[in-house]
Amino acid sequence: MSTTQTNKIETIKATATKINEVDFDNLSFGAVFTDHLLECDFINGEWQQPVIKPYAPLLLDPSAKVFHYGQAIFEGMKAYKDTNNDIWLFRPDENYKRFNSSAVRMAMPEVPEFVFIEGLKQLLKLDEAWVKNGNESTMYIRPFMIATGAGVVANPSEDYKFMILLSPAKAYYSGEVKVLIAEHFSRAANGGIGAAKAAGNYAGQFYPTSLANKEGFQQVIWTDDATHTKLEEAGTMNVFFRINDTLLTAPVSERILDGITRKSLIDMAEKEGINVEVRPVLVSELVEASQKGTLKEIFGAGTAAVVNPIAGYSYKEVYYELPKIENSFASLLKDKLTSLQNKLTEDTFGWTVKV
Ligand code: PMP
Repeated sequence: MSTTQTNKIETIKATATKINEVDFDNLSFGAVFTDHLLECDFINGEWQQPVIKPYAPLLLDPSAKVFHYGQAIFEGMKAYKDTNNDIWLFRPDENYKRFNSSAVRMAMPEVPEFVFIEGLKQLLKLDEAWVKNGNESTMYIRPFMIATGAGVVANPSEDYKFMILLSPAKAYYSGEVKVLIAEHFSRAANGGIGAAKAAGNYAGQFYPTSLANKEGFQQVIWTDDATHTKLEEAGTMNVFFRINDTLLTAPVSERILDGITRKSLIDMAEKEGINVEVRPVLVSELVEASQKGTLKEIFGAGTAAVVNPIAGYSYKEVYYELPKIENSFASLLKDKLTSLQNKLTEDTFGWTVKV
């Protein structure tokens, strides 16, 4: 089969829609999926024709390598509907590039741009009624790829399946988030897969996070694996710290995911005249700033929550509460970014892409 077939998308429409069963005002994040999905298989070294088809369970060989060796990657992105009912994506090229760099790191084939970007646009157009407008409503998009080749020998699969799922989402309010700074566990190490959106990175976080949950903390702030002295990520988000009026965040590395929200917030903050320092941030400087009263804010940044303010953190059994402040950088940046994403303000950065 020739790769040219990937330049055409077949569409098989669902005979009925589930949309009337969905309570769009009470959606729990990631729980409801639209009527269709996109599927594209990689067989015999070639991408096959992508198909948009009704959402349904998969049938896989029990020896498929995804189940045994965890060759699985994903992306997380969102679509927004404006007041003219046009649908917009936010920096989809960045998700596409990151997906393929994750693929390379996990010895998986890179997905053609047409399949990822055009496939996503066509899927969104077909399930257009599921994308609601208003600042509170978004469509969460989950592209992923798994190794489908059968056989339990520990080497890369020959065959893969790429899919895109759509899940309508309301604004994500996580409530008060208290975090525990990791003193023993790590999410990533130099030379490892921390910079990839590989499924195993998330599985590895569940246990340490569940221990933190038992102590009353919602998330873990991950530190560098070698010394546990540098602050790296918060849960599944990049993390920012405000000391006095300077915004600090760690540089991306082999251990830190190159978050699209993170880099967008850095650009927006700089445009707002905020002093941003991208450099390693030490646990000791955070504790010192708390003691001096100069630590004003900590917030996580990621596609799902956009900006997630942190109420306090614990380190070496001591809990440090953050002050409640007016005019926080977190709320300023969140407002600016969500207004731009929802086309309520002009996109001077050129980040929004029409579907
Ligand atoms: N770090 C990790 C580990 C993540 O899983 C995510 C979510 N993709 C982020 C950071 C934030 O990235 P983005 O802003 O691109 O969603």
